[in-house]
Parts: sequence; C-alpha cells; structure tokens
Amino acid sequence: MRANPSDYEMVAPGSLQAIVSLLAREPGAWLPIAGGTDVMVQYAAGKLPGRKLVSLWNLPELRRIDVTADEIRIGAGCTYTDLRQHALIGRDFPLLAAAARWTGGIANQNRGTLGGNIVNASPAADSLPALLAYEAELILVSVRGERRLPYVTFHTGYKKTKLAPDELIRAICLRRGLSGYLHYSRKVGARNAQAISKVCIAALGRLRGGVIGGEIEDVRIAVGSVAPVPLRLTEVERIVKGKPVDRELAHLARRAVAARIQPIDDIRSTARYRSEVAGNLVAEFIEQLGATAGRPHE
Ligand SMILES: Cc1cc2nc3c(=O)[nH]c(=O)nc-3n(C[C@H](O)[C@H](O)[C@H](O)COP(=O)(O)OP(=O)(O)OC[C@H]3O[C@@H](n4cnc5c(N)ncnc54)[C@H](O)[C@@H]3O)c2cc1C
Repeated sequence: MRANPSDYEMVAPGSLQAIVSLLAREPGAWLPIAGGTDVMVQYAAGKLPGRKLVSLWNLPELRRIDVTADEIRIGAGCTYTDLRQHALIGRDFPLLAAAARWTGGIANQNRGTLGGNIVNASPAADSLPALLAYEAELILVSVRGERRLPYVTFHTGYKKTKLAPDELIRAICLRRGLSGYLHYSRKVGARNAQAISKVCIAALGRLRGGVIGGEIEDVRIAVGSVAPVPLRLTEVERIVKGKPVDRELAHLARRAVAARIQPIDDIRSTARYRSEVAGNLVAEFIEQLGATAGRPHE
C-alpha cells in the first residue's frame, strides 16, 4: 500500500563526497534518487524498497561530459536531453543519441538520467544495448575510491547488478575511434516515444577495407527486451565475422538469434513475436552492412 509522503525522508547533501560518506555510514539504508522517473513510479505503486532517499539530482560531479583523445566520459547524472544536445555524442555515438531520443517524451528526457537507466536494470531499457555495442566501461565510486568495470559484466541477472550498497555509478566511458562503422539501431514498440520496447537493438559493423563485397571485419550486436538482461549476441557475431555478406549469411544470422535469446510473453508482446522481430532486425543490420560496407546511412 502507498505510504504517506510525510513517512519519507529525503536529503540532498549536495556533493559526491558527502553522499558516498552517507551511504558508507548506513549501507543499504539510503536509496539514491537521480531524476526520479523510475523511483517515483515505484513510489506511486507502493513498491519503494525504503523510506530514506538521497538526491543525486544536478550534482555537478555527475552532470559533466569530458572528452579526451581516446574516450568520452559521461557523468551518470547526465539526462537524455544532455545526451541529445551533445554534438560529439550525436556524431560519434549515434546509437546512444538515438536511444536518448526514443526514451519517454521530452519531460522524461529532461529528468531521466543514464545512470538511472543502468541501475534500474530493466531488460527493456533503451540505452543499454547501445552501451553494450560501444563496449562501455562504468566508473563506480564509494568511500573506498573508484573502480572501473566493463558494463557487459554489470547486470548479473534480472534486476541484479554488481553495485555495492554503498556505491554509486559516477560515469560511463565510451572509447572513441569508431569511424568507418555502420551504427544501426531500432526500437520496436507501440511507438517510439512513451512506449517500452518490445525489442530493441544496437549494432555496429565494418567490412574489410570499407569496400562493398568485403568480409565482415568487425561486428557487435546487442539486443534488449529478449532476455532477463540486455544481451550482446557474441555467438551470432562469431558466425558472421570474416564472411562476405549475402542473403544466406543474413538468414544464418537470423536463425542463430533465436537460439541465443530467452524472450517471454508479457502485456506488451509475445515471446514468439519478440523472437521473430529480433531475428529480422539482426538480418536487416547484416544486409545494410553489406550494402554500405560500414558507411553510415541516412
Ligand atoms: C513516462 C515514462 C516513460 C519512460 N520511457 C522509457 C523508455 O522509453 N525507455 C527507457 O529505457 N526507460 C523509460 N522510462 C524509465 C526511466 O525514465 C529511465 O530508466 C531513466 O533513465 C531513469 O533515470 P532516473 O534518473 O529518473 O532514475 P531514478 O528513478 O532516479 O533512479 C532509478 C534507479 O537508479 C538508481 N540510481 C540512479 N542514479 C544512480 C547512480 N548514479 N548511481 C547509483 N544508483 C543510481 C536509483 O537508486 C534507482 O534505483 C520511462 C519512465 C517514465 C516515467
């Protein structure tokens, strides 16, 4: 049952150091709240795990985007609007920019954060396949200092993560240098905005020499909404890598997808539909890669 708002305590210490100290003093007692777009849904449903909230909203340490020659480091408190408005993200990481455009509506994009999307750990979260395709690394922070881990290892099961009770995500790092790749993403849902994905995909690829007819030199394929966690389809990648693209290869890839995913029936879709669509999207990606050799398509 939903509690009275006055039953809740919310503090906003205003600095990252003060917040991690608070989390360390009472591990698990304080629930971080960033944009609140998932936390408030849980609150309204009477499913908030605790009554003590600590605000991360607009914390300067979590709201910056730093670019170096090798990588872009996105503060976990950056909103979808921040991502959409960042020119380098739009140019070099279009899969993430597209996910930001497709998440909720404008109001949601002004509040919802990338860190919140990761920790909320929904298998249908739109930004997570892009993070898998870009082989993102997370910087986690606590009073013990910072640790860096590949995002692909972060979600260990349905709604389970490697985040310790006294830790926060500080930043998400993406390596630069992906020119010459085709960046392909699709969200299949009732509509793009304000709809949870039935299936979503983010994929990258390049043909050898950037020439049509060349073999697939590099490929990364990630899908959401078809398993307890967002999945990188490494076995499908292995099957297509090193081969020239033709219809048979696209067909082979489509069939291989079904063996790797574990879709379910729910209120939004059926397992069968999700399986068919995931296979079709992977085949479409392979065909587009063959037709463009990795050059971005409009
Ligand atoms: C109307 C509506 C539409 C939506 N549409 C979509 C959609 O299309 N696609 C989609 O993927 N999602 C969608 N969402 C879900 C939500 O907006 C996103 O998951 C968003 O990114 C959550 O970010 P937040 O900052 O609001 O998280 P919050 O609600 O503040 O927090 C979510 C969880 O993350 C934790 N957390 C937040 N930041 C950190 C941090 N830095 N370190 C550690 N823990 C942290 C919190 O403790 C909490 O457990 C929608 C939500 C609503 C209400």
